Amino acid sequence: MVAATMRGRFAPSPTGRMHLGNVRSALLGWLQARAAGGAFLLRIEDLDRARCRPQFLQDLYEDLRWLGLDWDETPLIQSERDGVYREAQEKLEREGLIYPCFCTRAEIARAASAPHGLSDEGPRYPGTCAHLTAGQVSERARTRAPAYRFRAREGEVRFVDELMGPYAQDVQALVGDFVVRRNDGVASYQLAVVVDDAASRITHVLRGDDLLPSTPRQLQLYAALGLPAPAFLHVPLVMGEDGKRLAKRDGAFALAELRARGRPPEHVLGLLAAWSGLGDGSPVTLPALVARYRTDVLPREPVVAREALLLDALGLR
Ligand code: GLU
Repeated sequence: MVAATMRGRFAPSPTGRMHLGNVRSALLGWLQARAAGGAFLLRIEDLDRARCRPQFLQDLYEDLRWLGLDWDETPLIQSERDGVYREAQEKLEREGLIYPCFCTRAEIARAASAPHGLSDEGPRYPGTCAHLTAGQVSERARTRAPAYRFRAREGEVRFVDELMGPYAQDVQALVGDFVVRRNDGVASYQLAVVVDDAASRITHVLRGDDLLPSTPRQLQLYAALGLPAPAFLHVPLVMGEDGKRLAKRDGAFALAELRARGRPPEHVLGLLAAWSGLGDGSPVTLPALVARYRTDVLPREPVVAREALLLDALGLR
């Protein structure tokens, strides 16, 4: 039997300049794929049009190229793929797995973006609109466009994360029926990510562990759509010294900033390697990291990015 080629991906949202935490996820996904002789794809998750900017997308391409993180195939751009998401939604609809929801919860507005952990998501949806009659639906639709929700199955979804080990979540008990399309017509992150990873035949998803709690929902969608699910590897995030995850507002850690200060890519790679159990902070090249990459050395705890160490590693003081 010929082993199928590994296909990994990086799926950023161009909502700000990439910081070293984002870049580390990109690097690890790239290393995982390249070390296995596999393909590495890029996908632009720009469904939340209000938060995405063309300039951030240009910076993102430049950041990746500057580091040498190349990608195969033309990137999928989510804002151009609504037809594909609609087809998936229609399939779910034919099987009675989704329903229109007329509630006005903030969580519906946020559904186009990937949630950064369960705490971002608000309370469980109690199923208010789960059993409306056809009459109630048409009456409500006169005054308000509906969002659509997937009927989350009951019981635990279990899977084994390639770094974090076994993970179980009862989606219905914890999250409830979740949004697959917002009431302004935009597909949700949860639906788009599944449809696109399947369309790109992604075999391995490596991403930050803020998305670990989203994975059981995605597994339910894979099953409902009859699509094969990839393997998942979630890496604990890089935190600032204040204990909060690095955010696009933390300018000191923006890659574009470090590029502008004339730091060579090998210095940045050295620091990212040190945050990943793959080096001691000294400058390193991509080929050396490909040779060194192993999953079992990746940290299972959040890494703290200390500004002083950053400055040392980058020779900035
Ligand atoms: N676009 C998401 C983010 O930037 C990542 C989605 C994913 O990797 O599944 O947080």
